[in-house]
Amino acid sequence: MALPPKTWVEVSRAALRHNARQFKRALGPKTALMVVVKSNAYGHGLSETVRALRDHTPWFGVDSVPEAILGLKAAPRARFLVLGASLPTWIGSAARKGIRLSVSSPEEAALVARKAPRATVHLQIETGFTRLGILEKDLPGTLRRLRRAGTNVEGLFTHYANIEDTTEHSYARGQLARFRRALDVAETILGRAVPLPHTACSAAAILFPQTHFALARVGVSLYGLWPSKETLVSARAAGRPLDLRTALTWKTTVAQVKTVKAGTPVSYGLTERMPRSGKVAVLPVGYWDGYDRGLSSVATTLVRGRAAKVLGRVCMNMMMVDVSGIPGVRMGDEAVLIGRQGRGEVRVEHLAAKIGTINYEVVTRINPTLPRLLV
Ligand SMILES: *Cc1c(COP(=O)(O)O)cnc(C)c1O
Repeated sequence: MALPPKTWVEVSRAALRHNARQFKRALGPKTALMVVVKSNAYGHGLSETVRALRDHTPWFGVDSVPEAILGLKAAPRARFLVLGASLPTWIGSAARKGIRLSVSSPEEAALVARKAPRATVHLQIETGFTRLGILEKDLPGTLRRLRRAGTNVEGLFTHYANIEDTTEHSYARGQLARFRRALDVAETILGRAVPLPHTACSAAAILFPQTHFALARVGVSLYGLWPSKETLVSARAAGRPLDLRTALTWKTTVAQVKTVKAGTPVSYGLTERMPRSGKVAVLPVGYWDGYDRGLSSVATTLVRGRAAKVLGRVCMNMMMVDVSGIPGVRMGDEAVLIGRQGRGEVRVEHLAAKIGTINYEVVTRINPTLPRLLV
């Protein structure tokens, strides 16, 4: 048995499954759910998330072939689509393992046609994100190249640039129109409809049924997080508020408690002093674990279900919190950095706002070496 960790992440299987059911209902019978598990399943643990959801969907989205290989160990019969860029040296082994590659340029299509002509691929179309994707002018040639090689073009997809950052969705509608044109081009050149068109991320899946097509690639909201405040506002306005449940709780245990006098400085640089006499708890978690140093002095944690403010600077492997108002705190008590404890809750969005970022970044930055426990 491995020794127990000082800090770990608990992931609620029930919450993940509840969210998957919410999306399946919202998507309806014609649209399959692809659970996006890139970046260690948004910090929730790739293997753990795949194991929790492999009976709920056959489709998983990853960033890379190495991620897909990890996922296949947890669900050998599942279908993995690589959404990110692939190295030329990955193509052969991906095809042999049945991993779906995305092809996002004529160069990538030529590599697939040469190295793994019998691969199953999804073509990514540039419709306005200006990231990966085949330009409109290159699409016919790319399709012909793959058709000649005998490559199975199973999917055609695109990604929206401005759907979660706004309540005004005209840009997304333009991208959708360009995607539909690409679908027509593909059908003409391949002589058959592409079986799996897909465009929707979480926000699109929640807000726009016309983006659903055959498959929806849902990441952040599967973990119970809203893509943005704007998405929540738009969903409420459209009468489509999904009931999402957060799945992640980040825990640690109190390493030490000490009584200190008013004015005592805490942590590196003496940046903060105890406002009054009271108690400081040392938590054995720091920025190495993924607790951002920008949260120094500004975030709160939970101890015994009550808010305990971070005192002074977050260190590499430790941080101090003010437990003066919380009776009976002792070494070994459980503390919560993200999630619920008793009647308290630290939301991911609360931490994200304090450091000027988005909920996506806060959870994906939790150090992947910390254990993830399905509970
Ligand atoms: C990450 C990603 C998604 C999932 O986006 P969410 O907003 O987390 O649902 C879907 N499609 C692509 C191409 C992505 O890169």
